[in-house]
Amino acid sequence: MRPLIAGNWKMHGLKAHLGEIRAIAAAARASPPQADILICPPATLIDRAVEAAGGVIAIGGQDCHGKITGAFTGDISAQMLKDDGAQAVIVGHSERRKTYGDTDTRVAAKATAAARAGLMAITCVGESKSVRDAGHALAFCAAQVIASVPPTLTSTTCAIAYEPLWAVGADEAASPADIIEMHAHIRATLIGHLGAEGRSVRLLYGGSVTAVNAAQILALPEVNGALVGRDSLAASDFEAIVAAANPLAMKKTVRT
Ligand code: PEP
Repeated sequence: MRPLIAGNWKMHGLKAHLGEIRAIAAAARASPPQADILICPPATLIDRAVEAAGGVIAIGGQDCHGKITGAFTGDISAQMLKDDGAQAVIVGHSERRKTYGDTDTRVAAKATAAARAGLMAITCVGESKSVRDAGHALAFCAAQVIASVPPTLTSTTCAIAYEPLWAVGADEAASPADIIEMHAHIRATLIGHLGAEGRSVRLLYGGSVTAVNAAQILALPEVNGALVGRDSLAASDFEAIVAAANPLAMKKTVRT
């Protein structure tokens, strides 16, 4: 499965930062990566980001509403993102779930709206530290997958990002053992939920992925890419993570 390296800029980025996208696109043009690249800048930059990406990398939104249009001041529909040139959208990010009360039902509606608009919905799931400490992480994330991913979605309209809350914006990523265990469990859950289609849905890891740990994380079984926050903001950091998805680059890292 071709990996997907996705960057989530969150509420960072002005016109002046479009140069980072131009730089990532130039690097990808010069040396085609062994991964699909997606950058999700703030909605205000999407159309200009699409231009800066020059067709080499995809641009996505960070959230969308579950309805196509309506009296929802301040919200953005999946159709609007598509109209601006986006190809994907993140839904159910832990910051949206926590700060804006996005429930699994609401996340599922957003994912459905995204798919209907022709976008790939990257649905985030992940447990808190207290849920993990109580030994319920696997069951919690499986339940989130079942409730947040509409069974009508396919591997084209859906990707999952496992983002343990305690590793997002933290000092350290989850351990390889924790990632392996969780990704295997989510894969089995996806197959149960979507049937054979669940085998080809890309399963990303997110939470403190950096240029230093990316090669190790991306080489783990059932890890089909990464969702990157902080280290997606500067082209040099992000390019190093993209390069880590290249098996040749991984071998080089091991040798040095
Ligand atoms: C995120 O917010 O999706 C994320 C993974 O952030 P960071 O890489 O900074 O931990």
